[in-house]
Amino acid sequence: MNFLIRHTTLLPMTAEGCEPKSFTGSIAVEGNRIALLTAVEEEVEAYLEQHPECRVIDGRGRVVMPGLINTHCHAAMSLQRNMADDIALMEWLNDYIWPFEAKQTAEDIALGMTLGVVEMLLGGVTSFVDMYFHEARCVEVVRRLGIRALLGCSYFDHTIALAKADAEAAIEAAKGFSHIGIAIAPHAPYTVSRERLVEGKEFARQHGLPLMIHVAETQAEAEYVRKKYDRTPVEWLDEIGLLDEQTIAAHCVWVDEKDRATLKKRGVVVSHNAQSNMKISSGISPVAAMLDEGLCVTLATDGPCSNNDLDMWEEMRSAAFLQKVATGNPLVLPAYEVLKMATRNGARAMGYSEQELGVLREGALADLVMIDLQKPHLQPINDLVSDLVYCGKASDVELVAVDGRIVVDEGKVCGVDLPALYQAVSEAVKRIQQK
Ligand SMILES: [Zn+2]
Repeated sequence: MNFLIRHTTLLPMTAEGCEPKSFTGSIAVEGNRIALLTAVEEEVEAYLEQHPECRVIDGRGRVVMPGLINTHCHAAMSLQRNMADDIALMEWLNDYIWPFEAKQTAEDIALGMTLGVVEMLLGGVTSFVDMYFHEARCVEVVRRLGIRALLGCSYFDHTIALAKADAEAAIEAAKGFSHIGIAIAPHAPYTVSRERLVEGKEFARQHGLPLMIHVAETQAEAEYVRKKYDRTPVEWLDEIGLLDEQTIAAHCVWVDEKDRATLKKRGVVVSHNAQSNMKISSGISPVAAMLDEGLCVTLATDGPCSNNDLDMWEEMRSAAFLQKVATGNPLVLPAYEVLKMATRNGARAMGYSEQELGVLREGALADLVMIDLQKPHLQPINDLVSDLVYCGKASDVELVAVDGRIVVDEGKVCGVDLPALYQAVSEAVKRIQQK
């Protein structure tokens, strides 16, 4: 159904330099595209005359902006939320996460994915990049809930055959759904051998898929790769041909100047996970330097076990604060830059141009959110962008549309019985733990 949001504040994220960033006006959506974006009331009247069936939404006291893009997560891991906190990464993986995962079925993962996607949609995330198992099963979840997704079929050395089969099934299941993309996702340079990394890249090339991978997340990883290959993780991946414009590199904490130049030269999209890096004590990614050097840096939550949520508002604020404290320079990562990372830059990770996704522009894909500004923590509005980045909360999101379809309306996710979902999730967790 077509809709038009009227008398609202529009923040298209297209402004450069000192241009005004927002204006009062209206936005209309037709099919999966933005049909009208205007400050001129006569244009709105004319549009409504031509489209009398159009649903009109009063946007007073609200801001409409592009939806947020989460470029790295493991949404189904919401089943393991708060299961094992405040311990070291390898202990966390070996003693808790991997044993739990070994007992999960595809149905359990689909349930965890449902919870994760619902959390993201309610928080204004319209696109996400996932990295997990049984992604083919999750295509149905993503289709039903209506979020835009790039589903990465993850593997370790011994599970590459499963991941390839999963990817092929996922490609088949996603056929005809342009908002669902499939990718291949080797876990990391310290958990996957040269042979299997190269095999995954060849598979990606054959099928025209992007490749996503955790890169230089911890110092232990950097030391392991140095000892084994006498390279940095980035040097190693570049040497074996894994890095190009079709690569999403999550974390990039332990990257030096030379590594960053390589990432830039290859056109790799970097996914920065500030809160996960803080919680696991991975370190601080040199994000301000990467942005300065012209890399495409995006934002992400990582899995809901290492964060422990899928809240991109917190991620924006944490990313900004962390760079300010790390560099001792409060000028780095200003609010508008951070919002760009979470919208426009993220479009690249999803395989779209900045003209098509992550902005409000006539002809662009209609992935947008409406935020209720009538909240004590958002008043007075002295600076709209600061309001959103430094004060905004997931719970301020009132309406979400993805690919032109309204999926959150009046703060409620469409077509989901939340109490029944919570019940099913807690029963599944109990069942898995008792296995
Ligand atoms: Zn991750």
